[in-house]
Amino acid sequence: MTVPKVFVTQELTATIACESCGQSYTKDVSKFVKHKARVRLKYTCKCGHSSSVILERRQVFRKEVRFKGILIQNKKKYPGMVIDISRNGIRFTTQEKALLKVGNTAEVVFALDNPTRSEVHRPIRIRKAFSEYSFGCEFVDTEHLDDLGKYFLFHF
Ligand SMILES: [Zn+2]
Repeated sequence: MTVPKVFVTQELTATIACESCGQSYTKDVSKFVKHKARVRLKYTCKCGHSSSVILERRQVFRKEVRFKGILIQNKKKYPGMVIDISRNGIRFTTQEKALLKVGNTAEVVFALDNPTRSEVHRPIRIRKAFSEYSFGCEFVDTEHLDDLGKYFLFHF
């Protein structure tokens, strides 16, 4: 039997639906967010049915940030700002119109807001252009072993 997964929202809640009667519950799961291992949550519904779900955090959890940075594609540099970040990627807004090619790779450099203002360099792929100034980008590699990895541990 596979255990169903539920997603953690930005408000650190998860909505669990009873498999038996369909009633859904929204729970505060903030205490689990820093756990590194998978979290399996047991619940008992009002109808008496009990089951468990797996909290899916790594995929979706995004944090709104303001990290100054530069996006670079084909040697052209676009200064701007990382406005949200997750382990999978970032949303970047550029100061000037940027005709970045969706699907292509690029490079991003930005500074964290930790005390040492660590500089992070990453190859990324442009996933979506929200406008000519706003881009959804995914990290080519989602293993973060530098200060960005530490940042995720402490802030996520
Ligand atoms: Zn139920």
